[in-house]
Amino acid sequence: METQERFGFTDEEKLLQQMARRLAREKVAPGAAQRDIDGEFAYDMVEIMRENGLMGIDFPTEYGGMEAGLIALCIVIEELAKVDAATSMIPSTQELGSLPMILAGNHEQKQRFLEPLASGEKLSAFALTESRGGSDVAALRTRARLEGNKYVLNGTKTFITNGGVADLVSVYAITNPDAPSHKAASVFVLEKGTPGFQVGKKESKMGIRSSETRELIFDNVEIPLENRLGNEGDGFHIMMKTLDFTRPAVAAQAVGIAQGAFEYALQYAKERESFGKPIIKHQAVGSKLADMSMRISAARQLLYKTCDLLQAHAKKDLSRLSPEIIRYSSMSKAFCSDVAMWTTTEAVQILGGYGYCTEYPVERFMRDAKITQIYEGTNEIQRVVITSTL
Ligand SMILES: Cc1cc2nc3c(=O)[nH]c(=O)nc-3n(C[C@H](O)[C@H](O)[C@H](O)COP(=O)(O)OP(=O)(O)OC[C@H]3O[C@@H](n4cnc5c(N)ncnc54)[C@H](O)[C@@H]3O)c2cc1C
Repeated sequence: METQERFGFTDEEKLLQQMARRLAREKVAPGAAQRDIDGEFAYDMVEIMRENGLMGIDFPTEYGGMEAGLIALCIVIEELAKVDAATSMIPSTQELGSLPMILAGNHEQKQRFLEPLASGEKLSAFALTESRGGSDVAALRTRARLEGNKYVLNGTKTFITNGGVADLVSVYAITNPDAPSHKAASVFVLEKGTPGFQVGKKESKMGIRSSETRELIFDNVEIPLENRLGNEGDGFHIMMKTLDFTRPAVAAQAVGIAQGAFEYALQYAKERESFGKPIIKHQAVGSKLADMSMRISAARQLLYKTCDLLQAHAKKDLSRLSPEIIRYSSMSKAFCSDVAMWTTTEAVQILGGYGYCTEYPVERFMRDAKITQIYEGTNEIQRVVITSTL
């Protein structure tokens, strides 16, 4: 059964939206192009998020968070992504890396790990993917072996957002290779500086260039038993439920990117003239803008409907979500990111040759949009998930 649908935001959510919009315009937008060129992790943006209390938006108040809900988190991500998709990943990665602790941590673990993450004093990361393949979780090989009151971790993770800057990393590792894949793994909180934990290659990327993506290497890393989240063998359920909750954050990033590109292209189309009139008056251009407006509105509705379903139906523990909610989570991620890719490509087209040049922001939006179709499960995999729930 579907939840009663909420149309529109609460007064608190609207206030948060205004605050995030102002912050994005005044503090994030001005340096976005330069950060894209530099390709270095944006500590100054982290500081701005910290100062404005945006690191623990959907963390429990008991552990220092705002507990404002998934809708609130996505509102902030959307506003930031309208001007800089990479900066929008600061609050979203903090949520992604911390959610395994929120879902499966005990009280002592939540106090120890979540409080410094909610304040932004520490940064988190989520380490699932390995070079053998991100889509096929059963192929993962990083191994944690129990020895007395500690686990010994060996393996390598690839493409880990915040990998080199995170203080606490939620790591997925096989603890019982003989068990069926949904019972074979566990999740551990790995602390920066633990002997044998090395940060490897930094990826040079097409987009979201001021977000850091790294390889992580584990060479006989000793993790105390008290850093395991949940029971041994809970890993698959922890990671899958984490992703069910965080795919809407990718969708929000995508909607923000699409909206930012659309607004730029619209203004340009009103000002640029060809054949004696503004190009928006040429039907071929006007129709593109009409389609952008339609598709972004539809994407946004699907996104916030999904957030509403997740907020209303799911407690943050390891209980299973209904197939309907899982379907919405995947649909919002796939649909919004496809809309972002299409919209940004058409925005470049509307700007013509200028659209292809770095002096104008739409080519950056187009490069940034691409990742939203790939990470947190490719859109092919989202369609597999959607089909499985039909
Ligand atoms: C910038 C960036 C940041 C990332 N951040 C993180 C992070 O923080 N943490 C983390 O754990 N991972 C992260 N990832 C990894 C990301 O989630 C994976 O790259 C993604 O899930 C795809 O895995 P893959 O790259 O191994 O592709 P593969 O799994 O090898 O897939 C290759 C292609 O085959 C298709 N394919 C595979 N299987 C199927 C199937 N069954 N049906 C149809 N098509 C299929 C895929 O859709 C894709 O097009 C990040 C990646 C990037 C690029």
